[in-house]
Amino acid sequence: MTTTTDPARHRSLGDHTWQDQAACNPAEYNPVDPGIFFPRPEETDKIAAAKALCAQCPVRRTCLDAALEAGDTHGIRGGLTEEERDPLHSDLANRLDYSRVNAVLAGRDVHLTKAERRAVVLAGHRQGITVGRLAWLLKITEEHALKLYRETRRVIRHREIAEQATRTAPPTGGTAGHPVRNDFGTAA
Ligand code: SF4
Repeated sequence: MTTTTDPARHRSLGDHTWQDQAACNPAEYNPVDPGIFFPRPEETDKIAAAKALCAQCPVRRTCLDAALEAGDTHGIRGGLTEEERDPLHSDLANRLDYSRVNAVLAGRDVHLTKAERRAVVLAGHRQGITVGRLAWLLKITEEHALKLYRETRRVIRHREIAEQATRTAPPTGGTAGHPVRNDFGTAA
């Protein structure tokens, strides 16, 4: 999926003002046939016309995000047909877009997936963001934020222990606590 590095361009929750800038907004000087966005698979002319409009749309990425977040699987959105968008809808829960994570860390009210929320907690922990600030960023209680920080510390600690165990693991052929002859470098 395309990502943007500019957190300011992500849509805030409940914000529909981006639609004012949509290239598909019909106007007197800009007549648009809404039907081109709901083509049958064989209507390649309509698909091409819709995609051409999306390609010059200033809110294309926002439009795609809005469709994904709303589970709107119908029609052409953000320049992608229903078929092209299908894998994005299916995999949405696993989306990890750091520009969205950064947008929330910057104080924006952006819809995040579970993976992105976990990334916010991890970044908050690393950056020393207070429990109160994390609670505000994720719209959760301070008690919940504290719990998330505790879990993060536990995960980091477990990871460090696992990495240390890997570094100190005996060479192939030996097992920890049960040395074999080769552990001592003997040939006998
Ligand atoms: S990306 Fe396409 S469908 Fe979405 S708002 Fe722009 S022109 Fe309309």
